[in-house]
Amino acid sequence: MTKTVLVTGASGFIAQQLILDLLDKGYQVRGTVRSLAKGNVLKDALRPHNVKIDEMELVECDLESDKGWDEAVAGVDVIQHLASPFPMSVPKDPNDLIRPARDGALRVLKAAKKAGINRVIMTSSFAAVGYGWGDDLPEVCTEEHWTNPNNTADCRPYMQSKTLAERAAWEYVEGEGKGIQLTAINPVAVFGPIRSEQVKTSVGVVAQLMGGKIPALPNVGIQVVDVRDVSAAHIATMENDESIGERYILADEFFSMKECSQVLKEAFPNYADKLPTRSMPDFLVKLIALFSADMKSMVTELNKRRMGSSDKVKQLLGRDLIPGRDAFIASGETLIDYKVV
Ligand code: NDP
Repeated sequence: MTKTVLVTGASGFIAQQLILDLLDKGYQVRGTVRSLAKGNVLKDALRPHNVKIDEMELVECDLESDKGWDEAVAGVDVIQHLASPFPMSVPKDPNDLIRPARDGALRVLKAAKKAGINRVIMTSSFAAVGYGWGDDLPEVCTEEHWTNPNNTADCRPYMQSKTLAERAAWEYVEGEGKGIQLTAINPVAVFGPIRSEQVKTSVGVVAQLMGGKIPALPNVGIQVVDVRDVSAAHIATMENDESIGERYILADEFFSMKECSQVLKEAFPNYADKLPTRSMPDFLVKLIALFSADMKSMVTELNKRRMGSSDKVKQLLGRDLIPGRDAFIASGETLIDYKVV
């Protein structure tokens, strides 16, 4: 019998790829959206990729409200919980992110428990692994490592929200929610192709670079993973019981912003004049940080290499991950196709 998978936060960048891959694999998909109007925009955007998108049911749910979740989970076989706030800028109050992320995850799990749905894959993040360590940051983090959300000098509100949400989820399934089979997926920064013109946080950085919005590059960098691998990991964990109770880091190569800009410059020579090459001196980053919360969040990242190991997920997938370079280029190509840049 065809399995039905609930994807929460269906409008999101990763969710769009996952929904298309699930449909391609013959699953039935139900999605949660914050408004049905948004859901219809999503269907219009995804229809050119797969006409089966019209069979996707949509349920209106907000992470901050109980409304809709019982309906959303009713009769599904698996829940893929992706919804979580991921804004471009740092909020004044960390609770603006923590509350929906943590309480929302618990809402989904409690609805699952009530409906007798056992299998839940939760999109956590490397944000719940490699932050808050201060000077004790491991050279390479593994699934054993956890972010310390209390060290706010090395852990921004988004990282706090993802850590507290994942912790709460594990605590719930080990206690009141016993019986729920949970897996967490912990990707680093996700790039790769976009499937609609709605550009959100991570690919938004590529859009800003190619759009000439970033004049100089701070000495910061990130590990990168392709959204196609993130989606593949969500499906592989769902299909393999060995993943129950496990976390999986997804992380390919580390790129400085300068290297990222260089990759894009080589791939898209027409954008060469928009893509920055100049570095922003560290003192300038620190100076601007006095007035800008977003820049302040860069200060702790200056010249830092937060690294995670993908060994475990590679074993599960039985292959290497898509190179980070290809992920940037796929973002660039699709940003051009959708005329975002
Ligand atoms: P997006 O911002 O594209 O998607 C986030 C989704 O969450 C959207 O569908 C959004 O809905 C939904 N959402 C946000 N707040 C609420 C709320 N209060 N109630 C209901 N839905 C809500 O992000 P991504 O696709 O990139 O991220 C998906 C997941 O992956 C998140 O959990 C994120 O933390 C995680 N992740 C992402 C990484 C990345 O680099 N992109 C890296 C590691 C983890 P709406 O469209 O209405 O805003």
